[in-house]
Order: sequence, then C-alpha cells, then structure tokens
Amino acid sequence: MAEVEVKRVRVRGALTKSGLYDLDYAYNPYAGCSHNCLYCYARYYTPFREVSENWGRVVYVKSNVLEALSRDVKRCKRGVVGVSTITDPYQPIEASEGLTRRGLEILLKGGFRVSIQTKSPLVLRDLDLLSRSRHLVDAGLTVTTLDQSLAKLIEPGAPPPLERVKALKILSENRIETWVFLGPIIRGVNDSEFNIRRVAEVALETGSKLIYDYFRFKPGMEKRMSPLTARYPECINAPPSWRKLVRGRVEEICNELGVVCEPAFPEKGEKKDTPTRLTDFY
Ligand code: SF4
Repeated sequence: MAEVEVKRVRVRGALTKSGLYDLDYAYNPYAGCSHNCLYCYARYYTPFREVSENWGRVVYVKSNVLEALSRDVKRCKRGVVGVSTITDPYQPIEASEGLTRRGLEILLKGGFRVSIQTKSPLVLRDLDLLSRSRHLVDAGLTVTTLDQSLAKLIEPGAPPPLERVKALKILSENRIETWVFLGPIIRGVNDSEFNIRRVAEVALETGSKLIYDYFRFKPGMEKRMSPLTARYPECINAPPSWRKLVRGRVEEICNELGVVCEPAFPEKGEKKDTPTRLTDFY
C-alpha cells in the first residue's frame, strides 16, 4: 500500500445531514481514505481540498470529532447515522485512532441507530459493542468481486475480499443484521453472471441482503480510472440498456438463490420496503 500522510484537523460539528434518503445523518471521523479505490467518488464530496486532490494518499483525522459528536448527539433529533458515507470508518488509521469505535459508543448510548459500511474486517474489533446494541445496528461489507487480483487492481488499499466475507460471516453469526454491497458494478469488469452469482452466494451464506449499484463516471476521474480503462475500455460507459441488463441479471440470480436484493438508488417511482443505508459514495 502506498505511503499515507496523516494530518490532524479540527471540526465544528460531527453529525452532518445525509443526502441519502435512508439515512438521517452521516458520521465521518476521517476525511480521505487509504483504501484508495479507483472508482471512488467520495473525494468529490469532501470539503478538504488537499484530501480531495490527493485521494488515497492524505487522510485527515478529525481530532476533536468526539467532543463535537457528544454535543451534536444532545441537540439532534434521534435518527439513523451512516458510519461512514465519504470515508471507510475502518480504514487502517482507525486501528490506532479509535474514532469510529468511540463515535459508535456515543451514538448508541444516545439512542441513535447506526448503519455501518466498510471493506475492512477491523469492524470485528468492535463486535462486543455492536452485539450489545444489535437492535440499533446494521453492518454492510462491500464486495465488488471475489477475484483477488481484480480487487487488488480496483481497490488497491483495501483488505482482500475473502477477509470481508469472513467478517460478514462472523457478524452474522453474532446476530448483527448484515448486508452485502455489490457496488459499484462496472461494465465489463465485474458485471458478469459469474461474478454477480459469487457475490450473491456470499449474501446467501451470510443471511445478508444484497444491495447493488452501478458505476457512474464523473468528469475528472479519467486519470484514476486509467489502469482500468487500459484493460476494459468500455468500463466508463454505463448506458441505460446496460444498467437494465445488469439489473435483470442481479435480480434473476438473487431470486433463484432466495436472496433479498435491492438497488441502492431505486428508479423513480420505486420505493424500498425496508430502509437500508447506502452508501459510501464509493
Ligand atoms: S470507495 Fe469507500 S473504501 Fe474505497 S476509497 Fe472510497 S471511501 Fe474508501
């Protein structure tokens, strides 16, 4: 993994209103993410320019975020908090900083519901806490592929997919509500029936719901995506016909396996039955 520069910043608040319809708030104790996924567009949403311009190489630790969170918890109406939405809450820095764990303690004690999304088995470190408050917790692990070398290419700083699967199993065995996030599905990269089936089987084995989403190319992503576009030139195009095809594929496989699945962002006019948190904007 590339060297990551860590800096400390102070913030005014810790809970931000979430733009995602199934979350009320977001708690992002770090800015930036050393998992450094090629397809990540969280950097378009971070307010810190240095982090955005050096995504994956600079991570800010919000040094006073716990004090700010304690204040926010007192003043904000109870709701669902996404942990996190524009950073991975269990990226490596969390092992020493513990701002995710302590943030969760504050939120759960305050009666907030939390919806965790990560690519890291470090979430298991907090199994005791999550189990104690399981009625307020759901946890999603992102699994875009089980192909280790493809994962290494597209998510170079993230733990291998099999470690994520193991984490899902353990969370599920401990009766934590779990979900698998198959996203983003990238054209020609991880959209095959074989790939989707393997990820859906993980959902089946772990009793998880499967939530899926498609890659959306944003101007400015060309350079980051170049290792992928070199091998999969069509990957940045996601026309509606392709999305329809993929959607049909995911739904057919999940129906066959008996896995509950739903799109992260339902089409206009569609409604989800149950609220599910989504997502770390990649
Ligand atoms: S997609 Fe998620 S895990 Fe990957 S770099 Fe972005 S925030 Fe981190």
